[in-house]
Amino acid sequence: MIADREQHRRLADASVLVIGVGALGCAAADTLAAAGVSGLTLVDPDHVDRSNLHRQLLHRTADLGRAKVDSGAEALRSRYPGLAIATAGVRFDAANAAALVGHHACVIDATDGIATKFLINDAVVALRKPLVHAGILRFQGQLMTILPGVSACYRCLFGAPPAEGSVPSCQEAGVLGSLAGTIGTLQAGEEIRLITGTGTLLTDRLLTYDALAGRWRHVRLRRNPTCPTCRNVAPPLAVGAGNG
Ligand SMILES: [Zn+2]
Repeated sequence: MIADREQHRRLADASVLVIGVGALGCAAADTLAAAGVSGLTLVDPDHVDRSNLHRQLLHRTADLGRAKVDSGAEALRSRYPGLAIATAGVRFDAANAAALVGHHACVIDATDGIATKFLINDAVVALRKPLVHAGILRFQGQLMTILPGVSACYRCLFGAPPAEGSVPSCQEAGVLGSLAGTIGTLQAGEEIRLITGTGTLLTDRLLTYDALAGRWRHVRLRRNPTCPTCRNVAPPLAVGAGNG
């Protein structure tokens, strides 16, 4: 079908920045590569620890101590020989945000840290790049897509970062491994819909999943007209070929 060929072409032309090669990033990157996305960049400053292995499924026991970007990239290359994969073994921060985001068509936030999530949001909105955000902690997961200048951004929803140390990380508080796989795979599915222009995106709504209760919810969102990040931002450029 013509439509299928066009969708495959869009996936093959897309370049996706995956920030975080932990539980979410492993699931999302693997699913994106399997779907035919041919360009991925992995960003993560951390190294593989034994406590990661139950939920970060690109990393194996033999990878203990290796940089997660190297372990993840090797696993993906072995499964998808045609994949063009780049790595940056650094923390995503204000100094590298523009360069990393600017070279890609769209972004996956698979990080485990509230401050970094605000930083990613502000960077993608400033550069008008679409973002698929996800977060997990203990038994709770959440997912939303941000089209800068079109839909509510992360800061429209959450305002400002909480005080440092007031919200534990997955490493500190724990997370259900299967929840990470569920949300990371959904995150990739959202990215695929975004790239191919199919289906309905999770814009202006937050999808939440309670893995203890087995309950999904949609929370309706609105742009905050006084949001310091996105109130004056124009809509994004077209997603897909030629935009990254
Ligand atoms: Zn906003």
